[in-house]
Amino acid sequence: MTDANPPVRRLGDWNPEPLRDIADEHGTPTYVIDLDRVEANAARLRAAFAGADIAYAVKANTSRAVLERLAAAGVDAECAAAGEVKRALDAGFPAERVRYTAVNPPARDLNYVLGTDAAADLTVTVGAEDTLNRVAERGFDGRLCVRVNPGVGAGHHEKVSTGAEPKFGVPYERAAAVCEQARGVGNLVGIHAHVGSGVSGDDLAAHRAMVDRMGELAREVGDLSFVAVGGGFGVPYRETESPLDLDAVARSTRDALGDVNARLAIEPGRYFVADAGVLLTTVNTVKPTPETTVVGIDAGMTTLARPALYDAYHAVRSLEPDRPEKKPTRVELAGPVCETADVLGRDRRLPAPTRGDLLAVGNAGAYGYEMASNYNSRPRPAVVAVADGDARLATRRETLADVTRLES
Ligand SMILES: *Cc1c(COP(=O)(O)O)cnc(C)c1O
Repeated sequence: MTDANPPVRRLGDWNPEPLRDIADEHGTPTYVIDLDRVEANAARLRAAFAGADIAYAVKANTSRAVLERLAAAGVDAECAAAGEVKRALDAGFPAERVRYTAVNPPARDLNYVLGTDAAADLTVTVGAEDTLNRVAERGFDGRLCVRVNPGVGAGHHEKVSTGAEPKFGVPYERAAAVCEQARGVGNLVGIHAHVGSGVSGDDLAAHRAMVDRMGELAREVGDLSFVAVGGGFGVPYRETESPLDLDAVARSTRDALGDVNARLAIEPGRYFVADAGVLLTTVNTVKPTPETTVVGIDAGMTTLARPALYDAYHAVRSLEPDRPEKKPTRVELAGPVCETADVLGRDRRLPAPTRGDLLAVGNAGAYGYEMASNYNSRPRPAVVAVADGDARLATRRETLADVTRLES
């Protein structure tokens, strides 16, 4: 028996043939996102966190195809910006299942979100007294949530460990008072905190400490619908890492929250989509050097920014049919941009790559296409959505004309 819904899908689990077909039809670099796997991840979160409100932090992957699938699956949408609120509503999330949790929202964003018809039903999270005032000044009297700075941070990299960073949320000591102020503006429905992104088993203590403080605050504030304890559930980027024990995280979360008269709410982003995506890329140039073999590929930091931005590791494999004569070679996978940071992986072993070989980069479903840029006037890649064995173009590749189309 094989488990239809394993806790993690490794790069080696992807069937190379359909991926080769996609590359043949759509070219590279191309992101592939498997919508069935996205939904399976939603089901696993729901099973582990039974009875909790489960939201998808849409910033991890805002592809319309992903949003439609998760809207249909009945999860909520956690949005970080006005554009994400628009996308969530357009994809079919009902307004009452949309939360807008912006960090110091630009006036244009606030005007947009509070000006939509959906404003009466969605939930606005404020992370500063000043933001609460700005919301009140715009006449908003709907559902409010207060983001709290729990004073505890964790995550895969200091750049995404948000919990203790003063930028995020109302200082814990002020939180109860700001909740009272929020009750004078609208309907206070929840409190919220998020320790950071990429939390692994090792960070569970930090997560627990945060949830514990949120439970304490919830009991002090009273009369809330939900206590949101963020997302940040990590996925194993290295083949040797073991998957997060979701049941253990859920148990520990409930334990730490204690007895509160409000629903638990979680809002992972990465966990829904990371292992549902791969990035397809082609070898352009192979260059033996005294130090290593440099393998030039057509995906770089403008396609997948995580290695350059966070020193992130992504597994890479060849999708070429096995050729026994190809000995594993130590390689550096280099993108096309003239920056030292534009290296997708160093000291990797691949079967002696040759020009034209197709490679796959694993765990590319989260913060991959989202962070792609036009630096170097490089068109952004295509996105192909796979569902029930069928592949369809979800986002077409940009052209050079697209790259310059906003200039006057
Ligand atoms: C980014 C973010 C998340 C999701 O983080 P993941 O690491 O993708 O799970 C959840 N909540 C908030 C407030 C965020 O900013």
